[in-house]
Amino acid sequence: MSYRAEYLWIDGTVPTARLRSKTKILEQGAVPPVWGFDGSSTNQAQGHASDRVLKPVFSCPDPIRGGQNVLVLCEVLNTDGTPHESNTRALLAPVADRFAGQEPLFGIEQEYTFFQGDRPLGFPEGGFPAPQGGYYCGVGAEEIFGREIVEKHLDHCLTAGLGISGINAEVMPGQWEFQVGPLSPVQVADQLWVARWLLHRTAEDFGVRVTLDPKPVKGDWNGAGAHTNFSTRAMREGYDAIITACESLGEGTKPLDHVYRYGDGVDARLTGLHETAPWDEYSYGVSDRGASVRIPWQVEVDKKGYIEDRRPNANVDPYQVTRLIVDTCCTALER
Ligand code: ADP
Ligand code: MN
Ligand code: MN
Ligand code: MN
Ligand code: MN
Repeated sequence: MSYRAEYLWIDGTVPTARLRSKTKILEQGAVPPVWGFDGSSTNQAQGHASDRVLKPVFSCPDPIRGGQNVLVLCEVLNTDGTPHESNTRALLAPVADRFAGQEPLFGIEQEYTFFQGDRPLGFPEGGFPAPQGGYYCGVGAEEIFGREIVEKHLDHCLTAGLGISGINAEVMPGQWEFQVGPLSPVQVADQLWVARWLLHRTAEDFGVRVTLDPKPVKGDWNGAGAHTNFSTRAMREGYDAIITACESLGEGTKPLDHVYRYGDGVDARLTGLHETAPWDEYSYGVSDRGASVRIPWQVEVDKKGYIEDRRPNANVDPYQVTRLIVDTCCTALER
């Protein structure tokens, strides 16, 4: 008896990495071993020294194939065992370890857009649908496009045992969201990458493409973000820590860091319109969806809880954004 292990990894495409996967057949009972691939085909090596190493770091049941089959998320190493330069997980792990005593938790809201051909699902040929207003959390065939894919993806995430916590239709037709967390920094990032892979894979069977483009339709249409909700134990217990975290996130925000922190094209999305703050100005506020960082109203009432960094784009690397938030906030909270 054998089973199938689908090895997933994050490639070296710049500025926004893509997911790759391939299948290994394993004997029943065998643990998925270290494997390799052709890095010259994934922007991770030159042809003359093309081998790169896949090191399994997280695995779960494969809801697509079912049975005993598994998904195996890997990190990419060089043949000498050092992390490849595209391997941002290797940068997160030591920072998460260093601040583990503060018990940081993240919940990430992944927005995305379905496309069929050259336009979002639900956009009429050669034109535009009715303006935004009724689509967010809507119901009915006039407003909702792709729900069968979204429901299938949700089933798959639950079957895989991922910490998915909800889904909703978004402000633009064909645009949706799922949330992963609250989980520790490494867990939320690993599981978000697997949930993204499952989304692309599920939509593939419907002949539909998923994009994490932060501004898939120019003009008066909402962009797609990845609001990153964050707390430490101190923030879950008191308001001073909430304010300290909000203040710290405004420090040292240099324009050059933005792609790295929040994903490529952040200036196209963070315009100050469509429920965003301008990308080059920092602000925080209670209930304020026009601020960089929002304190949810319930958190102000309870005087404890979590904060929402609204800046990250849909195409953000969760290993990067969680590392930068933990590093910034936990350093400030330590003082
Ligand atoms: P909204 O759309 O109103 O911004 P959502 O309900 O989509 O909010 O997402 C809220 C997110 O906050 C969820 O991903 C949830 O996991 C996360 N969350 C809730 N409590 C905490 C917490 N204490 N620490 C970190 N994240 C949290
Ligand atoms: Mn080959
Ligand atoms: Mn949300
Ligand atoms: Mn949303
Ligand atoms: Mn949000």
